[in-house]
Amino acid sequence: MQDQLDSLQKRAKDKHKENKDFFKKLKKKPPKQLDYIMQELHDETFAKTDCLSCANCCKTTGPLFTDKDIQRIAKHLRVKPSQFIDEYLRLDEDNDYVLQSVPCTFLDAENYCMIYDVRPKACREFPHTDRKKFQQIAHLTMKNVAICPAAFNIVEAMKSRIKF
Ligand code: SF4
Ligand code: SF4
Repeated sequence: MQDQLDSLQKRAKDKHKENKDFFKKLKKKPPKQLDYIMQELHDETFAKTDCLSCANCCKTTGPLFTDKDIQRIAKHLRVKPSQFIDEYLRLDEDNDYVLQSVPCTFLDAENYCMIYDVRPKACREFPHTDRKKFQQIAHLTMKNVAICPAAFNIVEAMKSRIKF
């Protein structure tokens, strides 16, 4: 996995133009069965991916924390939501709550999430490759392929499977 991670940014950069062109076509003419295809590619890829030997999402980028996330995690940690915010979060340029620093404070030495059962919705859904109407998150996915080896592999598989 480390080999894959070491070269991921470069491989994503090399594929940037190809991916941009592909997503442009996908937006214009999404296949009827796109949701089904994405679910299949997502499941196949994650069955072969060991997130515990990676954790690159938790190490390099943080999730957004919704109000519900904050309430739920603060309750789990037995602190007030305001205390949780003061200790761990900051507002970003879009006025969303994000981590004060990465790697995420809740990632332990073995790459386990210490708040796994109550983790933010964005963590549960990352890298969003089983999302319905996947063509709508092309921009986000173009970024995620440089962070997440699974997202990179899923986009490569999409390009083989969906021809325009
Ligand atoms: S909350 Fe858990 S899953 Fe989310 S970034 Fe932190 S360690 Fe990773
Ligand atoms: S979701 Fe992607 S970046 Fe995060 S741990 Fe799994 S493979 Fe790595």
